[in-house]
Amino acid sequence: MKLVKDIENLYSREFKQWELARENYVALSHMNVKKFNYNGREIVAQFNPCRYNSAAAKIDSESLSKRECFLCSEHQPIEQETILWQDTYKIQINPYPIFNRHLTLSHVEHQPQAIVPHIDQMMQLAALLPGYVLFYNGPTCGASAPDHLHFQAAPFSELPLCREAIHDDCDLSVYFPFFYIIRKKASEAKHWFHVFEQGMQEINQKEGEYPQNVLCWRTKNEWHIIIIPRSKHRPDCYGYDEEHFLLSPASVELTGVWPIARECDFNRITPSLLQSISEEVTISEDEKEQILEYFINNA
Ligand SMILES: [Zn+2]
Repeated sequence: MKLVKDIENLYSREFKQWELARENYVALSHMNVKKFNYNGREIVAQFNPCRYNSAAAKIDSESLSKRECFLCSEHQPIEQETILWQDTYKIQINPYPIFNRHLTLSHVEHQPQAIVPHIDQMMQLAALLPGYVLFYNGPTCGASAPDHLHFQAAPFSELPLCREAIHDDCDLSVYFPFFYIIRKKASEAKHWFHVFEQGMQEINQKEGEYPQNVLCWRTKNEWHIIIIPRSKHRPDCYGYDEEHFLLSPASVELTGVWPIARECDFNRITPSLLQSISEEVTISEDEKEQILEYFINNA
């Protein structure tokens, strides 16, 4: 709990000294919000203009090489304080929040996003942050800094899918299109995670990491990991003009919270549109079955 307390103190200091962050967090409390219940699942949409840069981020290698990485310390504002964990991860408040507590946990070194070699660290950090869910957005799965290894964290209570998932009695839920791992032992949770990763690689056979979002949290007795394999970075309706939608789904959208940066999009969205975008950017039922089969044969 010490880290959670340190984070609360960090928030107090940042709200005093960092105007941009303070204003963006204050804006959250009177943000326009729509709540839907769609097929028994809760979906929350918020009109959140401070998320524009994230939704519109250009992540091709040329654009990335031209910009200053906002997770590297030398490019961060002087007001942005850090809690350093094991000299490896910088825990900081996210100045462009979706939630009233929204953390960025970035590696001290500039290196690409990759979950498989770093699941251990994600779990260790999750254990230190009771009440938070850590989430990882793969390089082509919503991360606006795919070139800098990082996780984010949000309060567990804010993510509808996580709240719903925890009431499930099964070890492995088949929430389409997620794989949900619950284990008492960290070593088992990790083992299952790696078997799923192998299964995903098996059906993909592409270079590099299988595109995915991963969420991880720790309750009193259990580890929880949700893997969301992706088929696509952004939906076909994605675009900058007003004919299109500036919606670039990542972990939080696919677990039920949609921060929407433009008012024209916020006014037009419907739960069925958000659901169809979720289905478009995640894997098919057939691929899910193949991965599950691999898992059952190899776990
Ligand atoms: Zn960087």
